[in-house]
Amino acid sequence: MVLDPRSKLDHHGKVVALVGGVGGAKLAYGLAKNLPPEQLTIIGNVGDDFQLYGLHISPDLDTVMYTLAELANPATGWGLAGDTRQMLDMLHTYGETPWFGLGDRDLATHLLRTQWLREGQSLTAIVGRLLAGLGVKHRLLPVTDDPLATVVDTAEHGTLAFQDYFVRHQWQPTVTRVRYQGAEDAQMTDQVAAALDAAATIIMCPSNPVLSIEPILVVPGIREKITNRRGVCIAVSPFVGQQALKGPAAKLMGELNLDISVQGLFTYYDGLLDGLVIDETDREQVAGLAEQEKFTLMTQTIMNTPDDKVRLARECLDWVGRFQP
Ligand code: GDP
Ligand code: CA
Repeated sequence: MVLDPRSKLDHHGKVVALVGGVGGAKLAYGLAKNLPPEQLTIIGNVGDDFQLYGLHISPDLDTVMYTLAELANPATGWGLAGDTRQMLDMLHTYGETPWFGLGDRDLATHLLRTQWLREGQSLTAIVGRLLAGLGVKHRLLPVTDDPLATVVDTAEHGTLAFQDYFVRHQWQPTVTRVRYQGAEDAQMTDQVAAALDAAATIIMCPSNPVLSIEPILVVPGIREKITNRRGVCIAVSPFVGQQALKGPAAKLMGELNLDISVQGLFTYYDGLLDGLVIDETDREQVAGLAEQEKFTLMTQTIMNTPDDKVRLARECLDWVGRFQP
């Protein structure tokens, strides 16, 4: 089932999706199959960006790009399908112990991005060029072109750069605090500001609330624009049965004393949400709570196949219509 993207979904007006990496990219893909490029803007997280061997790597932006281009590795959700690891093998030969998975074809993305940044192009422009090269028509905008880095304070190892925590330490250290370095001085891009101003529907995709969505929300002005929206803002929960489907979201939020229940997510996104999409498995959480039932869509939120992604996106878009005046 692939829907005609030109089918009438005008009651949503323009849609903005906030995404992180693998979880968010799945819904972004579904939205892109339901909406024409001029009706959807995807805003991506740069808090994961880092430098390795002189290269500027943007893991979340690349995950979204590859997913939209239908090139992502289906086994992992990140990296390129069918990619090889000869470059990493060669690093081993030199006695390096590479801990970050850079595929051979994937490397081309990092080489070009790094080169183009050195030439003075903005990350926004670069992502646009890369998307065009991959034949993707939908817009993916980094929330900012300025440096912004998520860092994690841990009980065992002190402060860790994000990828040190996430990849090298496999998100096992106990997190005491998450910080977004550079956020206060980061500016949202003009394109991001315009997209949020024009949005009739804002969707927070099922990404890690603290590690993927928050580093977007902390850029000055973003939260205000969402608060002062003229349309509707919903989130899709990344939790199923009070567990993360993958990664540290539940563990980390527990360590930070954040509640991942339905009520907990409404509280976490304090004042930003009109509605929350949750998995059917979590039905009992809102049972009997009339107020919460009204603001909650219960459906199957696990997206394994392309059809799952398209269907969930469609359900979200249909549901949003209920909130329109
Ligand atoms: P990362 O940057 O690659 O870690 O990815 P995100 O932050 O975008 O997403 C991580 C979150 O996605 C995890 O909390 C998962 O529980 C969630 N997730 C992954 N796949 C799915 C899915 O199919 N459905 C839902 N609802 N959540 C998902
Ligand atoms: Ca990420």
